[in-house]
Amino acid sequence: PVVLGIESSCDETGAGLVRDGVLLGQAVASSMDEHARYGGVVPEIAARAHLHAMAPVVDEALRRAGLTLADVGAVAVTTGPGLAGALQIGVAAAKAYAFSLGVPLYGVHHLAGHVAAATLDGGPLPDPCVVLIVSGGHTSLLLVRDLARDPVVHLGDTLDDAAGECFDKVARILRLPYPGGPAIDRAARDGDRRAVRLPRPLSGPNDPPYAFSFSGLKTAAARWVEAQRAAGTEPNVPDAAAALQEAIADVLTRKAVRACLDHGIGTLVVVGGVAANSRVRELAERRCASAGITLRVPPLRLCTDNGAMVAAVGDLLVRAGAEPAPADLSVDPSAPLEAAALTPRATAM
Ligand code: ATP
Ligand code: MG
Ligand code: FE
Repeated sequence: PVVLGIESSCDETGAGLVRDGVLLGQAVASSMDEHARYGGVVPEIAARAHLHAMAPVVDEALRRAGLTLADVGAVAVTTGPGLAGALQIGVAAAKAYAFSLGVPLYGVHHLAGHVAAATLDGGPLPDPCVVLIVSGGHTSLLLVRDLARDPVVHLGDTLDDAAGECFDKVARILRLPYPGGPAIDRAARDGDRRAVRLPRPLSGPNDPPYAFSFSGLKTAAARWVEAQRAAGTEPNVPDAAAALQEAIADVLTRKAVRACLDHGIGTLVVVGGVAANSRVRELAERRCASAGITLRVPPLRLCTDNGAMVAAVGDLLVRAGAEPAPADLSVDPSAPLEAAALTPRATAM
């Protein structure tokens, strides 16, 4: 069947249509601009924006796929983690579509969605593979087997901030526009990554090999900026952006490649919003190539939040014969990462 996927966990309203692992069409609307003057996502504004955008985004995804609602055979929706009010709009909409069409409904873990995004470009993921999830709220190294059946194994996480959070916070300190990650990526193009010395947290021989820490990096960047301003010079933003991006990309890719080598795994998958970063992509490519590891990184539009990745999970669940969600499916704003394979229901047996 054609699976309609709906995403609304943060500030993107996404809809996507997937059949048998193939992306047929997708559309995304973002309320990013409405949050810009607050410097971060405002939950009430996000929820209201989802309400306005939901039906038009679903219609647009269908139009791009050359389909109508009558072609939809199942509906999948993100139930968490994310903002409670924002998730509610997506789940309510998904129920309305599923019940009115008389098709099954599936609840999806947002991070399973980020991982499944990689299947929409290049087909199923090999079993096993190492997955680096790097997004606004998460930074984790996982060992993934069959995404629809096996629980993910946690190799390591960030001990404090997520990598995306570090990009966003330092961007704010540098007075770059919101959202910070893409702004740092752009600014870094004209910068010298060696101009500012920044630490490589948790990279010593006695540090946990797969754990990350980004709050110290943020503080180091902030100190450098303060020192410049105190000395009466405006910090060189491109240099600072390039140095920060280099430090983050260096630590992420080094640990991810090491996880593959330590576990004898031949494929690294990098997903989540920060996987859109140009230097992360470049260093991952270079290091995987020299270590003989196959790299899978989704195209940019599938890295940040979207509905196609949710449809991809729904499609895997349908094909794995998973039990649909009950009629009273509810949101789970703090769904643990351990539940990411894929719904608890599919892994209960
Ligand atoms: P989560 O998926 O953990 O719930 P989220 O859904 O908010 O969080 P994503 O949409 O996956 O996160 O990613 C958003 C994050 O990605 C933001 O922190 C943003 O700054 C970052 N990001 C997006 N593009 C880039 C880029 N080119 N370079 C660096 N960071 C980027
Ligand atoms: Mg977003
Ligand atoms: Fe996300």
